[in-house]
Amino acid sequence: GFYSSTIAQLPPDPMFGLKARYQKDPRDKKVDLGIGAYRDDSGKPWILPSVRLAENLVQNATDYNHEYLPIGGLPAFTAAAAKVILGKDSPAIAEHRVVSTQSLSGTGALHLAGEFLRDHYKSAGETAGETAPPLVYCSNPTWGNHFQVFGIVGVPTAKYPYWDDASKSLDLEGFLKSIREAPAGSVFLLHATAHNPTGMDPTPEQWKKILKAISDHGHLPLFDSAYQGFSSGSLEKDAWAVREGVHNKEYSFPGVLICQSFAKNVGMYGERVGAVHLVLPEHDATLNSAITSQLAKIVRSEISNPPGYGAKVVSKILTTPELYKQWEQDLITMSSRISSMREQLVQELERLNTPGSWRHITRQQGMFSFTGLTPPQVAQLEKDYGIYLLPSGRASIAGLNPSNVNLVAQAIDKVVR
Ligand code: PMP
Repeated sequence: GFYSSTIAQLPPDPMFGLKARYQKDPRDKKVDLGIGAYRDDSGKPWILPSVRLAENLVQNATDYNHEYLPIGGLPAFTAAAAKVILGKDSPAIAEHRVVSTQSLSGTGALHLAGEFLRDHYKSAGETAGETAPPLVYCSNPTWGNHFQVFGIVGVPTAKYPYWDDASKSLDLEGFLKSIREAPAGSVFLLHATAHNPTGMDPTPEQWKKILKAISDHGHLPLFDSAYQGFSSGSLEKDAWAVREGVHNKEYSFPGVLICQSFAKNVGMYGERVGAVHLVLPEHDATLNSAITSQLAKIVRSEISNPPGYGAKVVSKILTTPELYKQWEQDLITMSSRISSMREQLVQELERLNTPGSWRHITRQQGMFSFTGLTPPQVAQLEKDYGIYLLPSGRASIAGLNPSNVNLVAQAIDKVVR
């Protein structure tokens, strides 16, 4: 039977627990800097104009229906999604080295990748007869769900140094050391852009060093791409690290995994649009087909078929030139609003002479800022000012807007004094 003595009560998920407290808070000046979802200038969710247009086209098409998609997803979607991340002239795509399957957004992509690695990936150590299981190395800190997603499918994880608190920047030396010391064939999970939670991405020169070290030590890079277009506003620029890793012949990897989410950059959070792409080092039709069949088996046993609606809307955007242009514009709208909020927040903190330096907030990019606020300061912001952020000090900058940014700065000023 089911017993309360054996089924432990778990604490609420930190993010969704925060959201629940925010929703219950009766104060009208409350501010939600918790969840990583874009909000417009009036603090409201935003349906992208490109999405509205695509939804109309999809729903008004004569062949519109709600039939099952194929197990691997909508072929037009997965093919177009690969081009978004790898580039439309990607040699890897042209050489048929990319195996793609549709997933339940980015989380589902990571879950699929985890299961596939667990069952079908052999690290160098294992191939040589050792029993060391493959380990997925995640940045410290990282999106909290990474450990849970890999843990639940039985893939052990480890951490690599990433954030240097003292300098509020990347700990490149620690990162590289960890790459050198990990058992050959380990998996390194890399945030493709807009690192969550720090907002701090490596520079191109740093990326080259990181990728070279991963290649030299026989590891496999796994790019988690959940914010393409959110850092710079440009899909091309934000895919730089992934494309460098996949296309630069200086590196040789056992493969490159990409877990791609369209939740944020298309704003279809709840529709669960995503894909996994595995880029193989060389074309091998037999291997390609075997991998496709194994991914299909996992999908079939877990969800049978991925969801159709969001994939149809996104593939309409990706394959209709005018809509693609509108989408690029929408990404600029979102990313530039966020950068201007970073700037205003810091300006107000500087105007108030708030103790400490705050310029790291404008150096960071993407949805989040790792503010440097301590857990007690965060707790006080919530209690005294109705401002909600994660205890780590991570703030979703998308929650700021012209009517709350100064109030937030003033509250921060109070709690750090
Ligand atoms: N990876 C990272 C780093 C994220 O921040 C998120 C969203 N919070 C995801 C993956 C997955 O999001 P989703 O499943 O909504 O696509």
